[in-house]
Amino acid sequence: MSDSFDVVVIGAGPAGYPAAIRAGQNKLSVACVDEWKNFDGTYAFGGTCLNAGCIPSKALLESSELFQRAKDEFAVHGIKLGDIKLDLAAMQKRRAAIVKTMTGGITALFKANGVVGIQGHGQLLPGNKVVVTAADGSQRTLQAKNVILASGSTPIRLKTVPHDGKFIVDSWNALEFDAVPARLGVIGAGVIGLELGSVWRRLGSEVTVLEALENFLPMVDQTIAKEAQRHFKKQGLDIKLGAKVLRAEVKGAAVDLVYADAQGEHQLQVDKLVVAVGRRPFTEGLLAEGTGVELDARGFIQVDDHCRTGTTGVWAVGDAVRGPMLAHKGKEEGVMVADLIAGHFGEVNYKVIPSVIYTAPEIAWVGQTEEQVKASGRAYKVGAFPFAASGRARAMEAGQGMAKIVAAKDDDEVLGIHVIGPMAGELIGEAVLAMEYSASTEDIQRTMHAHPTLSEAIHEAALAVDKKAIDSINR
Ligand SMILES: Cc1cc2nc3c(=O)[nH]c(=O)nc-3n(C[C@H](O)[C@H](O)[C@H](O)COP(=O)(O)OP(=O)(O)OC[C@H]3O[C@@H](n4cnc5c(N)ncnc54)[C@H](O)[C@@H]3O)c2cc1C
Repeated sequence: MSDSFDVVVIGAGPAGYPAAIRAGQNKLSVACVDEWKNFDGTYAFGGTCLNAGCIPSKALLESSELFQRAKDEFAVHGIKLGDIKLDLAAMQKRRAAIVKTMTGGITALFKANGVVGIQGHGQLLPGNKVVVTAADGSQRTLQAKNVILASGSTPIRLKTVPHDGKFIVDSWNALEFDAVPARLGVIGAGVIGLELGSVWRRLGSEVTVLEALENFLPMVDQTIAKEAQRHFKKQGLDIKLGAKVLRAEVKGAAVDLVYADAQGEHQLQVDKLVVAVGRRPFTEGLLAEGTGVELDARGFIQVDDHCRTGTTGVWAVGDAVRGPMLAHKGKEEGVMVADLIAGHFGEVNYKVIPSVIYTAPEIAWVGQTEEQVKASGRAYKVGAFPFAASGRARAMEAGQGMAKIVAAKDDDEVLGIHVIGPMAGELIGEAVLAMEYSASTEDIQRTMHAHPTLSEAIHEAALAVDKKAIDSINR
C-alpha cells in the first residue's frame, strides 16, 4: 500500500470521516487515521459522537422515554398494561448494538469511497507528514499533500472532583451504567447534563443537577428556557442554580460532595456523580515540534473562516477548532475543506447552525434569541404558537411547549426560530432551511404546511408574528 496521499485526515469522528469520504468522492487519494478505543479495548471509527455521545445518548433517551410513557401515559390512550418492569441489560444491549452498527457503517462507507482507514495514533510532523503509531507500537509515516486535523474534544475534569470512572464519572461512563443509581448527582445543567439526567430520572434515579450559573440555559431563548425549567421540575429533576461544587470524594460506595450557593455550604451524598461541565479541544500528541500549527489560549487549533491553519496544506475542523461543539458543524467543516482541497466551492454558514437538546419536551433553535436581537438594538417582532393548540400534538398527547419566531421589524427577515415541544429537533430543519435562504416570515406564512402536523406550529408562529395566526388567539 502506498504511503503517499493527497489527503490524510487525523480523526474519524463526525468532522473527520465526512472529510475523508468527500475527499474520496472528489477522486483524491485519502487515508483517515483514528485511535478511538472502546472500554473493551476494540478500535472503532466514529469518534465521540458515534461511540460515546450523540448516538448512544439518543438510544437511551428513546428507550427511557418509552419506559416512562408506558408507565405514566399509556393509560390515557386506553392502553392498560400490567406491571411495567425495566430490563436495563436489554436496554444497554440495544444501545451497544446501535453503536456497533453505526460505527461499522463507517468502515463500509470508507471502502465504498476509496478511503484507507488506519487505526492508530497520528501525529503531524513538519512537511505535512503524519507518523502513525499502531497499538503494537509499530510506526509508519504517511506523506500528504494536505492534512486535515479532526482530533475532537474530551470532557473537562475538575481537580476538586477527582474522576475514578466508577463513582465519579464522565458522560461516557454515565451512558454505560449497568444499574440505575438510586441517587444521581450531575454537575452542569448544560445539554449533556440535562440529557443524561433525564435518562436516569426516567429510569428511577433521584437526580440532583448542580449548576454554578444563576441563569438556566443562558444560550437558549429565555421564554423557552423558562418553560423548559418548569417541565424539568415537574419531571422531578432537582436543578439547583447558583450551586458551585467545591469538592467531592468517594466514601465507600457513595460520593460525598460539598457545594455552595447564596445560602452557604451544603453537603450532598449520591451514589454516582456525573461531571458534565463541558468539553475541551483534544490535541494531545497531535502536533510535533515545528509544524507551525498554533493553538489559541483555550487550546483550540487556530483556523480562519475556511478552516485553514497557518501552515500551508494543513486544515483543522470540528470540536478541535472554534465554534459550537456539535457534530453537524464539524461535518459541514469537513466537507467544506475536502471540497476546497479539490478546487471546488466550499463554505460554512456559521450564522445558521441548529442546536437541539433531546429532553422531553425537546428544545431546538437556530439563529438569534430574542435577548440577542434586543441587545443588538435592531427593531423586532415576535410570534409564538403553543403546541396545546396543535391537533397533531394533542393526538400525540404532547401538547406542551411552543414554536417562537423572532423577525426584523424593518424587512421581516427571520432572525431566530425557537421550539420547545414534540420533535423540536426535526421541526428545526425547516427553520434552518428558511434561514439559509434568508426567508422572511411572509415566506413561511405563504408556504403550505400539511395538516395535521407538528410543522404547522412553525407556520402559525410565522403568522402570529403579524398577528394573523388562525388557530390561536393573536396577542
Ligand atoms: C454525551 C454526548 C452527547 C452528545 N450529543 C450530541 C448531539 O446530540 N448532537 C451533536 O451535534 N453533538 C453531540 N455531542 C457532541 C459531538 O459528539 C461532538 O461535537 C462531535 O463528536 C465532534 O466531532 P469531531 O469529529 O470534531 O470529534 P470527535 O467526535 O471527538 O472525534 C475525534 C476523533 O479523533 C480521534 N483522535 C484524536 N486525536 C487523534 C490522534 N492524534 N490520532 C488518531 N486519532 C485521534 C479520537 O479518538 C476520535 O475518534 C455530544 C457529545 C457528548 C459527549
